[in-house]
Amino acid sequence: ASSTGPLRVCVIGSGPAGFYTAHQLVKRIDDVHVDILDKFPVPFGLVRFGVAPDHPEIKNCINQFTVLARKEQCRFIGNVGLGQDVGLAQLRPHYHAVVLAYGAEEDKELGIPGEDTPGVYSARSFVGWYNGLPEHRQLDPDLSGEVGVVIGHGNVALDVARMLLTPVSRLKTTDMCTHAIEALARSRVKQVRLVGRRGPLQVAFTIKELREMTKLPHCSTLIDPSYFHSIKSLLSELPRPRRRITELMLSVAENRGDKRPAGGKEWGLSFLRSPVEIVSSPTTGRLDSLRLEINKLQGTWDSAKVVPTGEFEDMECDLAIRSIGYKTVRVGRDVPCDPVTGIVPNVAGRVLDRNKSYIRGLYCSGWVKTGPVGVILTTMNKAYETAEVIQEDFRSGTLPEPERGDILEKLNNELGVDTVSFSDWENIDRHEVREGEKKGKPREKIVDLTQMMDIVHK
Ligand code: FAD
Repeated sequence: ASSTGPLRVCVIGSGPAGFYTAHQLVKRIDDVHVDILDKFPVPFGLVRFGVAPDHPEIKNCINQFTVLARKEQCRFIGNVGLGQDVGLAQLRPHYHAVVLAYGAEEDKELGIPGEDTPGVYSARSFVGWYNGLPEHRQLDPDLSGEVGVVIGHGNVALDVARMLLTPVSRLKTTDMCTHAIEALARSRVKQVRLVGRRGPLQVAFTIKELREMTKLPHCSTLIDPSYFHSIKSLLSELPRPRRRITELMLSVAENRGDKRPAGGKEWGLSFLRSPVEIVSSPTTGRLDSLRLEINKLQGTWDSAKVVPTGEFEDMECDLAIRSIGYKTVRVGRDVPCDPVTGIVPNVAGRVLDRNKSYIRGLYCSGWVKTGPVGVILTTMNKAYETAEVIQEDFRSGTLPEPERGDILEKLNNELGVDTVSFSDWENIDRHEVREGEKKGKPREKIVDLTQMMDIVHK
């Protein structure tokens, strides 16, 4: 390390990207100290606020992150928002390297008329509502109608549909927030249709999640087999994962109606449809239907272009959730950000300035680096790449020397930030687990920031 002590790194964001970058730095460099900052008093990003409550095994990475956070070389500093409580220029003099890993905090919009009609929600807010994201805890979606539409053909869309259709007796044993479990117990939603602008060969969800949907109790799957007529002959040419998922959809489509239980629920896939308008009822002002333009595809299956046909149809619905992706937001004027994609411009995690030169000592990791795509494993691999380039730059002596001492003093004393340590989080964690035990679930998440801070101050 340097003459002044260990290599000092600050990671902004405590999701998988932040933790895996820190993990790799601690593993590979003997004398290193990593601060992991987060705007929330609670760590782990989308592992806490995104991953579906009925997939607890996906959250096992938290155990590894916890081991790391308890190490001497690592320190979690929660309740510090970059761009809110502290600026990048204030942080950088305290470190050799700063890693931007603050994820994607907004959802993409369709950009069509009627998007703000009552009854229309974004997947980000709906997921945040059932997973306890403080800003969405009061969403209280209207689930009083029978027909729901989810716009999008990715895994998040399937998560949303699954939460709407899973028997509440199952959800009760997960860490889904009680307010959501209660609302879903009252829900009258019986049918959920997932609408995508492309065809069966372009779906973005994965086979495990699809299979799970086809096995939901008291719920049948409806897929129109006619979508597959021209696809059948292509099957043998497809790469294996694409072939398997297509075969699964095809077999479900061909067996349709087989297991439709009386009074049961159903879900299905609609292809080649782009929403062009959200239509509200002239009497109530509430959502009435989606106006869809019918598309066709041009080109080969893996680079197919969507071509609108000029034909339209209306799909009546009582609830619509758009799930067309997340987007990265700019967190400060001094934080580089592509105005179109929201991504931090970078090469292998080294951040670039406007002139496409490297900014010494500034890196990025996770969804700010790649855009909001990919599972935790993808994020991990990309985080390891960022850690590697930091190590290279450290070895070649290109990192700037820190000019200032411990940031914590500045945050607490000068900037008046009420920081949260990892052991403070562990107090919140214990509280949540205790409250969960009373209800037979793994935890009851605290959804109110003030209540979190009350536990910290106890
Ligand atoms: P995030 O996990 O979003 O972490 C970013 C962190 O930065 C957060 O803790 C946030 O609070 C913090 N932050 C944001 N802004 C600031 C700021 N200004 N200052 C300080 N801190 C800030 N992957 C799977 O493998 N399996 C799944 O089942 C799965 N389910 C998913 C479900 C949903 C709904 C979503 C959206 C994603 C899912 N993923 C899943 C993908 C996975 O969550 C991502 O790959 C991963 O979380 C990206 O990691 P990240 O660290 O870049 O972002």
